[in-house]
This record gives sequence, C-alpha cells and structure tokens, in this order.
Amino acid sequence: MDIRTVGEFGLIARIKNRIPGLFPQVLRGIGDDAAVSFLSPGMDLVSTVDLLVEGVHFDLSLMTAFQLGRKSLAVNLSDLAAMGARPLFALISFAAPSHTPLEFVDDFFAGFGSIAREFEVSLIGGDTSSSPDRLFLSITLLGEGEREKLVYRRGAREGDDVYVTGTLGDSFLGLYLARSQKGKPLVSGAEFLLERHFNPVPRVKEGRSLARENLATAMIDVSDGLYSDLSHICEESGVGATLWAEKVPRSAPFLSIISDISGGDRNWSLKGGEDYELLFTVPPEKRQRLAEVAKDWPCGVTLVGKITPSSQGIAILDEHGPLDPAVVKGYDHFI
Ligand code: ADP
Ligand code: MG
Repeated sequence: MDIRTVGEFGLIARIKNRIPGLFPQVLRGIGDDAAVSFLSPGMDLVSTVDLLVEGVHFDLSLMTAFQLGRKSLAVNLSDLAAMGARPLFALISFAAPSHTPLEFVDDFFAGFGSIAREFEVSLIGGDTSSSPDRLFLSITLLGEGEREKLVYRRGAREGDDVYVTGTLGDSFLGLYLARSQKGKPLVSGAEFLLERHFNPVPRVKEGRSLARENLATAMIDVSDGLYSDLSHICEESGVGATLWAEKVPRSAPFLSIISDISGGDRNWSLKGGEDYELLFTVPPEKRQRLAEVAKDWPCGVTLVGKITPSSQGIAILDEHGPLDPAVVKGYDHFI
C-alpha cells in the first residue's frame, strides 16, 4: 500500500493517530486551520526551521525511515539547545512521491514520535504535498526561553575559554564508513560511529543548564564542523580564537578506525559536520562552576581553545605548529 491508497486526508489522519499525545501548553493541535498553544509566563518564543532534501541531506539507501524521523527532529532540537531554549512545539511539512509506501510514512512518524516523546515536544501541525520524484521535509520547532538567559552566537569575549560537549568527528567518519563499507561487515567500533551519524543526541539538557546558570557567553551547535562553527561565533562576536587541535575530544572508535583508513586524518574531527555537539565560550572565572554543572552530563565537556582579539583571526595549533585552515573548512551547500 502506498500514499495513494489513503489520500492526503487519510494520510494526515494516519499521522495524527501515530504521534504521541500533546503535552501541556497546546490548546489545539492537528485538525484545525491553525494550532493554538501558549508559552509559560514571562518566556520569549524561540523558533527554528530546517529543510531536508532527499539526495542532499539524506540518502534512503543508507538510513531507515525510523532513523530519518528521529534525526529530522534531532537537528532542530540541537538548534534550540544551542540557544539554551526549551523545545515545545513542532510543525512538519513534507512533499513525498505518491508511490511512497505507507510503511515508510509509519516508520518515519514512529521515529519522529519517539524522539518527540523523549524531549516532550508536541507535533501540532504541518502541511502535506505530493512531489514528483523525491522526498522533501521541513520541520519547524518552537520553544521558549527566559529573555535574560538565552545564549547567542554574539556574546564571546576575549579571554573566554572555548568548550565542546561530547566527541567530534564521529558523525563524519560514520557517514564515510556507511558510504565506503556499504554491504560489508562492520569493523569493530563502526556501529558506534554509524549511530552517531544516523541517530545523533541533541544536547538539550546541557544547553539549558549552560543558559540557566549564566555560564555560556556564546553558543552554537556543531553542525557544519568545529572550525566553521567556531568561525560563526567569532564573526558574530567580533573576536578571534585559538583552537588547540590536540585537545579536540575524539572517541576511541574514531581514533582506532581513522588510523586504518588510508589518507585518514585525526583532524577530520575539526572539519566533520553533523556532530550536533555544543560549542560554547565561558569566562575563565566560571571554570569551577562549569565543572560542577557538567559533572552529570553523560557526554562530558572539553576545553579546546581560547577567545583572542579579532585581529588574530582563528589560529589552529597542533603539536607541529599552526594548521592551515583550508584543511579543516567545513561544509557549504553552494561551494
Ligand atoms: P489547510 O488546507 O488549511 O492547510 P490541511 O488540510 O493542510 O489544512 O491541514 C489540516 C490539518 O492537518 C492542520 O491542522 C495541519 O496542521 C495538519 N497537517 C497537515 N499536514 C500535516 C503533516 N504532514 N503533519 C502534521 N500535521 C499535518
Ligand atoms: Mg495545508
């Protein structure tokens, strides 16, 4: 059975029946001309949207519909995490070819629903269309945050420490393995890296505590690559940075597998995108407090650099001296 069997309205009903119930703050969800919900008293609205195009952002020969459903919400959750906001409501629009199997749609929404439940997000609406040959998805995520606490890219100051959560490069290497080892048995550690690429965990709780505790002066999620995303913070804040390449946290599977890849380089962890970790700056006098707050983060946190005057630009140092930024530039859709 494919989408033609149920039609547009049958499809919407099917989606509605398959997603978790609504959390408080939603007065009217799917089924009206527009959804109605409210923010907690005194909170500001924080909004983000992401567009995912089959063949550009995802490859259905490499990932399941369930994984796609989870990841499509995870990347938006990561954006709100990077603001220190609390996610609340999602809207999903998609255009799918009419021959798309209903099983695909069901699995997608099972994945979407599973992560929505974990992060207490309500799916409150969307839009549906046919598409001639490929899947397009757009997810809007709305959340809330305290005006004085939200964290922007623009707040980094000279002397601040630069931190990242988790480990970097896993997702990039996971995708590399998925493409190059397709159909072959997995080497040890590969499963972890694939999971990091296809099922990233947004650092919502961590972003919220950094905001709540007034620790981060600037924050971004690592979606394009560490070097690229640090450049965004530097540009917005009008500062420079020194990044210590040797300090960049790498997982054990990353280190063991990268050494077996011809041309593989540990510094892939500075350019690889889609880690969805948080990159943030903290004044040095708050080091102790950060350590206390981060004590119960399963992902951990690592000091990787320092904010410098803007005249110094971004310097990357490894044990041999300065690294050429050209080798660690991240992804750009149009270049
Ligand atoms: P309209 O013609 O006013 O845009 P629709 O028929 O597109 O209305 O949508 C009817 C209801 O179903 C709305 O509440 C809308 O938000 C919801 N909806 C439509 N498509 C989706 C979808 N893909 N996922 C979730 N809700 C959807
Ligand atoms: Mg519509």
